[in-house]
Amino acid sequence: MVPEHFDVLVIGAGISGIGAAVHLQARCPGRTFAILEGRERLGGTWDLFRYPGIRSDSDMYTLGYSFRPWTSPQAIAGGPAILAYLEETAREHGVEPRIRFGHRVTRASWSSGSARWTVEVERGAACEPVRLTCSFLFVCAGYYDYERGHAPELPGAERFRGRIVHPQFWTDDVAWAGRRVVVIGSGATAVTLVPALARTASHVTMLQRSPTWIVSLPEEDRLANALRRVLPAKLAYALTRWKNVLLGLFLYQLCQRRPALAKRMILRGVRRALGPGFDVERHFTPSYDPWDQRLCLVPDGDLFEAIRGGRVSVVTDRIERITETGIRLRSGEELPADLIVSATGLEMKFLGGLEVAVDGARVELPKTTAYKGMMLSGVPNLAMAVGYTNASWTLKCDLTCEYVCRLLNHMEARGFDACRPELDDPSVRPEPLIGLRSGYVERARRLFPMQGSKRPWRLYQNYLLDRLVLRHGRVDDGALRFSRAAPGAAEAKRPAAA
Ligand SMILES: Cc1cc2nc3c(=O)[nH]c(=O)nc-3n(C[C@H](O)[C@H](O)[C@H](O)COP(=O)(O)OP(=O)(O)OC[C@H]3O[C@@H](n4cnc5c(N)ncnc54)[C@H](O)[C@@H]3O)c2cc1C
Repeated sequence: MVPEHFDVLVIGAGISGIGAAVHLQARCPGRTFAILEGRERLGGTWDLFRYPGIRSDSDMYTLGYSFRPWTSPQAIAGGPAILAYLEETAREHGVEPRIRFGHRVTRASWSSGSARWTVEVERGAACEPVRLTCSFLFVCAGYYDYERGHAPELPGAERFRGRIVHPQFWTDDVAWAGRRVVVIGSGATAVTLVPALARTASHVTMLQRSPTWIVSLPEEDRLANALRRVLPAKLAYALTRWKNVLLGLFLYQLCQRRPALAKRMILRGVRRALGPGFDVERHFTPSYDPWDQRLCLVPDGDLFEAIRGGRVSVVTDRIERITETGIRLRSGEELPADLIVSATGLEMKFLGGLEVAVDGARVELPKTTAYKGMMLSGVPNLAMAVGYTNASWTLKCDLTCEYVCRLLNHMEARGFDACRPELDDPSVRPEPLIGLRSGYVERARRLFPMQGSKRPWRLYQNYLLDRLVLRHGRVDDGALRFSRAAPGAAEAKRPAAA
């Protein structure tokens, strides 16, 4: 049977996949496309994570789409509100019928002869094999493993009489009201969970090996809410988005260029929030500079307030072992617990775990170099939506989607079937793709492609530069090589179905 063919197959129906669909519909109206989603629901991250207090840790005016205003008064929003925004976006833009749920993509092989991808899919719980073809593959599969969280071994865990939960797999039957909870970790998830659990737990301890930089920001953006009262929603949103983009860039640059000043400013905020007598040096002063790892944000200082109110304590120590009744620390202290939450992070996964082959040769990601942070050297007609690590994910994904549409239109106008980034400039030095020193990035470095030392192989992590390059830069920049399919492949190119 001839496999069903699409001009574009999008993998993933999270923020970036839904955004990709809206951009494709608006900018490439003639193209056939479908979204292949491994799960049975859309929303990705915002549907998967169900732990108490789940929320964004960047503002929704930049995490929201460029094309659809975020109109809720909360700038830092809860997971259910973000999921509702994604569902409404998909419904309003007619994206839902394009999504094929329960379609997990396992492999994609490119044939230069026919200038198309053959995509292998496992459908539904029975993993029924399905084969589709497409001319362009747009991978919007996020960056982490949905099946596994990062769970370092906890020696003695089998003896613990309570329950041990990883936040990625939180279920409705996890009980914490009136109980003693220890949350292991102090990253974005831990600082979200701790104040939320502390509302009803008898006590919560945040146990960290080392501190994280934590900044308090207002949950509501007063300027955004004022603008929305007097201006049309779209204009108010655009102005707030720009304000937050520029503020974010300024704070990031300040941390990178004047780390001592940034540290002093952050610590002053923490000291003020926690009051006198708290050991800020030990528990809230990391050894690394702000933004060498992702900065953690707490809305209206909720974490600090819970600590000050005595409902939460912070312990900086190492685990020796789990006991029947809690956690024994290297210092000899014992933390009693009824529930242990291992907020120890994510397991990264690149390209949705896809095995990719080009003309029969398997692509080894670490041997490729990212082109404009969205394509891979030597891999034709494939783009990936990878957001910023120092700003909201969607800012970059929106630009990537726009660029992919420009690229598709450029190829159609000139009769090209394939585009392939080629790195043959010997002056481009390879560098690690992600500069962050966070644990989850370090653990996964060997899985990533590289980046190059200069344009268009360099990842700037800078919205203003990317906007210039991706929106206004030349598509035909010399590094992206265009070609036509071999004569005789015309038959293969004709759609079998739309
Ligand atoms: C708890 C939490 C909070 C976060 N908060 C923020 C924040 O405030 N700001 C920010 O910028 N970022 C945040 N992030 C990062 C966040 O993941 C991104 O912002 C964004 O949600 C990623 O969207 P995405 O669509 O690219 O990926 P995801 O949300 O991960 O969606 C990917 C989709 O692709 C599907 N998929 C994956 N592989 C395959 C495959 N092989 N076949 C078929 N389908 C596949 C998945 O099932 C999923 O539905 C947060 C992450 C977490 C975990």
